[in-house]
Amino acid sequence: MELARMQHFEDLAHEYGAPLYIYDSSIIQKQYTRLFKAFSSVKDVKLNYACKANTNINVIKFIRKLGSGLDAVSIQEIEIGLKAGFSPQEIIFTPSGVNFNEIREATKLGVKIHIDNFPFLRKFAQEFKNYPIGIRINPHIKAGGNENISTGHVNSKFGISIEQVQDIIKLTQEVSLHIEGFHIHTGSDILDIDVFLQGAKVLFAIADKFPNLTYLDFGSGFKVPYKPDDKQTNIEKLGEKLSDLFNQFIEKYGKPLRLIFEPGKFLVSQCGFFVAEVNVVKDTPYRSFAFINSGFNHLIRPMFYHAYHNITNISNPAGKEQIYDVVGYICETDTFASNRKISEIRMGDLLCLENAGAYCFSMSSNYNSRLLPAEVLLLNGKAHLIRRRENLEDLLSTTIDISI
Ligand SMILES: *Cc1c(COP(=O)(O)O)cnc(C)c1O
Repeated sequence: MELARMQHFEDLAHEYGAPLYIYDSSIIQKQYTRLFKAFSSVKDVKLNYACKANTNINVIKFIRKLGSGLDAVSIQEIEIGLKAGFSPQEIIFTPSGVNFNEIREATKLGVKIHIDNFPFLRKFAQEFKNYPIGIRINPHIKAGGNENISTGHVNSKFGISIEQVQDIIKLTQEVSLHIEGFHIHTGSDILDIDVFLQGAKVLFAIADKFPNLTYLDFGSGFKVPYKPDDKQTNIEKLGEKLSDLFNQFIEKYGKPLRLIFEPGKFLVSQCGFFVAEVNVVKDTPYRSFAFINSGFNHLIRPMFYHAYHNITNISNPAGKEQIYDVVGYICETDTFASNRKISEIRMGDLLCLENAGAYCFSMSSNYNSRLLPAEVLLLNGKAHLIRRRENLEDLLSTTIDISI
């Protein structure tokens, strides 16, 4: 991290308090442009931002202005998307195991809907005859950073099995279903380009059997670098290869098709920085623990996924490097990093965790009755507070005191 950035973040933490989430919109823009450009040889490409990665409405509005659509996984995300200015047709609802009422609600709002099980397909055909839908397929491809984020394998709960495509065809002969697209999402943190190409071939084989489609949705799963020397999905190469395959396919298909991706992490992971203050440094005969004023209540990825987040001591970048365990203040084991080389940490120093834009704030909680941190967006070089820090009143606002 550059010194100027460290200084800037220290200033922001002094102004808005720590812990603090900071998002740099220029990084989102760079990522969006990079992905879009990689597929420039395809005539109709749409990126639908998977907003569960970061649902701050300002982040969503910024990405909308770049030309993106939205991928939502709950009725609440749809509602936030509509508030952010998306038209219903720009929003794809890709739920997993939600109550059918939520799908009903989504049809009233007029958004695109992906369905991933037969009972709902039947119910949908009964109730909403002519409402176009997409179908989520489980391609039975094992891919992704770890078990929790691998979603397209044989035993995954997601999608209709590729082995049941014949049953979909059969169903379309029995009931009135207007299928306009197919969707796969194999997982997160996929490095291997061949996995995406394999997925594409699965979609093409299915699409071949359905002559009236308007789009194919390849989901997401692009890996971004977390460690300094980490590998990442080679987007340019993927763009080249997949675009070729796609263009060949639509020629054979005989009708124009839209190519859709739903990036979450790729767009917003690297834009985010989480700045927390060191409460105390505790040396034992075996280890050196730096306790920060946060825990898995604010950023759970290291504990939940064993994710690596780069950590810089922005208050003492020139300090001598030492080995630390960076841990939280929650009354459970909440280790952000262990055996990590960081410039000497002193009480009151500010540590900055990188890659904090995706699945960080959006997965936060009030565990230990801790308050959610503030969020700041850097836009055209200027810092804007986009979420104020929570207070005790917020925390208690939904409980009802029955005067016991
Ligand atoms: C979570 C999710 C995504 C985004 O995945 P990333 O790895 O963050 O890019 C895309 N599509 C669907 C259906 C999802 O559930």
